Amino acid sequence: MHLDTFIDELERRCGREYRVRWSPRTRSFHVEQKVARTLDYPGNDDKAQRLRDGVRLVLDLGHPTEPCPRCERPVEAATFERAEVECPSCRALGWTVWVTTGYFPLVDKTLASLERWHPRLGEEPRAEMDAQNAALARSHTRHRDNVAESLALEHYSKIVGIPSVGYTKAGTPHSYGSYGL
Ligand SMILES: [Zn+2]
Repeated sequence: MHLDTFIDELERRCGREYRVRWSPRTRSFHVEQKVARTLDYPGNDDKAQRLRDGVRLVLDLGHPTEPCPRCERPVEAATFERAEVECPSCRALGWTVWVTTGYFPLVDKTLASLERWHPRLGEEPRAEMDAQNAALARSHTRHRDNVAESLALEHYSKIVGIPSVGYTKAGTPHSYGSYGL
């Protein structure tokens, strides 16, 4: 099924608060549901984007194959469910390696599953999203405070002349910077 058709069908069956977004990070389509107000939130990762748009992740449509973490060969994914699949290449060599997979292709069966799992916009996801947003707003304030605090501290060290250079036991000065601290 073409992506546009899939999205049209999704909206028709589940509601217009549903959308499909390509995630460059997971390199897969994410089905998301609008549950909250938009929020001025920085960042470009999936979580930041979802918070900004007031949507929650309903389903990552996944990939037809997932690389085995040991041999890196592609392992055929379970379809229409999330499931652990054993890597056959590793098994042939006597290793037991489980790969987390789950592929939901753009077909009617995936739409039917979505319709069954997430029929309507309920109060529950909205409350969940509001709680998440509130927690984030709090941590945002905390982050701002921390930045202000560390800037103030840095400024303070400069004023009182605390050196940003460490000394080894032998007394040779070295910069903390060279140790990545
Ligand atoms: Zn393997």
